[in-house]
Amino acid sequence: MSKVLFLSIPSHGHMNPMMGLANELVSQGEEVTFFSSEEFKKPIKELGAEFKCYKEDLNIFQKKEEKPVEDSSKKKPLTGLASALLHPEMFIDDVLNEIQDLQLDYIVFSAAYPFAKLISQILQIPSVSSYAVFATKDDLFNKKASPGNEPPKKGPFGLSPEITQEFQTVRENLIEKYKIKMPENMMDLFFNKGDLNIVYTSKYFIKNINNYDESFLFIGPPVYKKKYNVDFPFDKIEGKKVVYISLGTIFSNHSKDLNNLFFDAFANTDYVVVMAAHKVNLDQYKIPANFIIRDYVPQLEILKHTNVAITHAGMNSMGDLLYNKVPFVSIPLGADQFFLANRAEELGATIVLDVNTLTSESIKNAVEKVTIESSYAENIAKISNSFIEAGGYKKAVEEIFRLKSK
Ligand code: UDP
Repeated sequence: MSKVLFLSIPSHGHMNPMMGLANELVSQGEEVTFFSSEEFKKPIKELGAEFKCYKEDLNIFQKKEEKPVEDSSKKKPLTGLASALLHPEMFIDDVLNEIQDLQLDYIVFSAAYPFAKLISQILQIPSVSSYAVFATKDDLFNKKASPGNEPPKKGPFGLSPEITQEFQTVRENLIEKYKIKMPENMMDLFFNKGDLNIVYTSKYFIKNINNYDESFLFIGPPVYKKKYNVDFPFDKIEGKKVVYISLGTIFSNHSKDLNNLFFDAFANTDYVVVMAAHKVNLDQYKIPANFIIRDYVPQLEILKHTNVAITHAGMNSMGDLLYNKVPFVSIPLGADQFFLANRAEELGATIVLDVNTLTSESIKNAVEKVTIESSYAENIAKISNSFIEAGGYKKAVEEIFRLKSK
């Protein structure tokens, strides 16, 4: 039995694959200490892992509502990503303090956890990185590989050039204080490579396999017997023609217009539409009677009853859909979603719609096309089979144990 430290960005997209991995490690006798936010306390404890709460809010990719500053002469306080990048010591020292009495054997982090490499260097233990995004930095921002996915004009992740500039001083201070190495390019903080790198897809699905060295392990999507702490009226969808719509947990508030297009497309049809609308204020909409909308739904369970889906093409959701052989239409909205959606389209598994030009009619037509034309189901089955062959969490743990024994 070994002691393992888990550090994740506390968002569903990063947490879900990490929780599956922790689940498998615990079931094979490992002792896991898992850092996240209060929101994930219950599911982490249910896995049999020890939960530790970050003192600072690290959900850096979640857009927050900006609070007005009372005194306009004062600078707005930094939040989210900017705060994590310009005041990293409070995040790092918090974790180091909490683990000072633990004898840790290895560390597992989400690739995008910005201080992952830094903390691993301080601890000097083997490291495993979990890629909830699989595109490499080059893939992600290569306009040709993923059109529509160029970095925002303002700077990486929409940060101002002043923050990128200020980060250089922060970086030098960190090197001095912790005696560690740090990448020069700030973007590298979101693509932390470990000694072993777990990617939740198959080699078949990867386009530029040469961008990944032999430390990368492709295990297929993060599918495990997940325990959901939410209710859902399954009796209302059993035996019905079900469309499932989800834009994930970060982009769910993309635009009011987009949600209205979904309502227009499927109102007064014989579909029952299940829609996940995370943190969306529903008061602003007239919701058709055949829609069941919830803040969070048990996605893997819903997919067992789903005929066709519409997705933002997030890494986890697309994995869920392909693995469960559900035909789907992709509306990528940001991050690595253009890359993923384009790749699935290239393999004949989806239709990609451009969010800037779509209409309720084009949504409905695309949904019908992926359902009716058998080539979509056939190409999805090829990917699904490659996922199953990839070996899942069992394969991941086998390789982690191999790393541990070196
Ligand atoms: N998810 C879910 N129910 C919901 C919304 C999301 O179970 O109502 C899960 C979904 O299965 C996936 C994760 O949350 O594992 C979302 O990750 P994804 O990469 O698809 O999108 P993100 O939220 O990171 O944009």
